[in-house]
Amino acid sequence: MPQSILIVEDEPSIAEVVGLYLGRAGFEVRTAVDGLAALDEVERAEPDLIILDLMLPGADGYEVTRRVRARSDTPIIMLTARKSEVDRIAGLEMGADDYVVKPFSAQELVSRVRAVLRRSGSPAAHAGSSEERLEYGDLVIDPISRRVTVAGSERSLTAREFDLLVTLARRPQAVFNRDKLLELVWGSADYIDPSTVTVHVRRVRTKIEADPSHPRHITTVWGVGYRFQP
Ligand code: CA
Repeated sequence: MPQSILIVEDEPSIAEVVGLYLGRAGFEVRTAVDGLAALDEVERAEPDLIILDLMLPGADGYEVTRRVRARSDTPIIMLTARKSEVDRIAGLEMGADDYVVKPFSAQELVSRVRAVLRRSGSPAAHAGSSEERLEYGDLVIDPISRRVTVAGSERSLTAREFDLLVTLARRPQAVFNRDKLLELVWGSADYIDPSTVTVHVRRVRTKIEADPSHPRHITTVWGVGYRFQP
């Protein structure tokens, strides 16, 4: 069965070109022209990946990402005309998996789609790693049910956040640099901005740390990467 891609873009010429290339690449393509139509379509058709323009009538790309992420891990590639790092980070913070800056080549976008879909196979989750429950003080990580609790209260992590946490926690004290984490958790360091790791670490900290700005478990090793402290 072909994988389905939802293109959310209010400029018909862009939607058309992107749709054409994705169709030729063997994907089934759907389109939506505004944020609310996109949310309907996500609910109805459950696409395998969403290409999402940032500037949209109705709900903008940030809002659509936030609402999709509240319910699912469907990969999102954001299209942005903005070049500043702040805007790119904002998209990743909301839970986008990748972004492409306009103007872009349709061919490059197709490569990104393939890379993101490959990564979303979630290698860390299926690496045949130990299924042993990890307990560090109040923090309990259960790889089988994929649940995380802190002092008995359940924390809701996305699939990627969970994979990142479990990757670090399985090797306490080991230092992982961002490229290594991209490889282990995302499956590839190709086409992905290392700041994605930074953003995900920050999100995991807000969910498991008592004081995310002074983390006890996931600490930063300056200039190198991250380390899990039991
Ligand atoms: Ca637009």
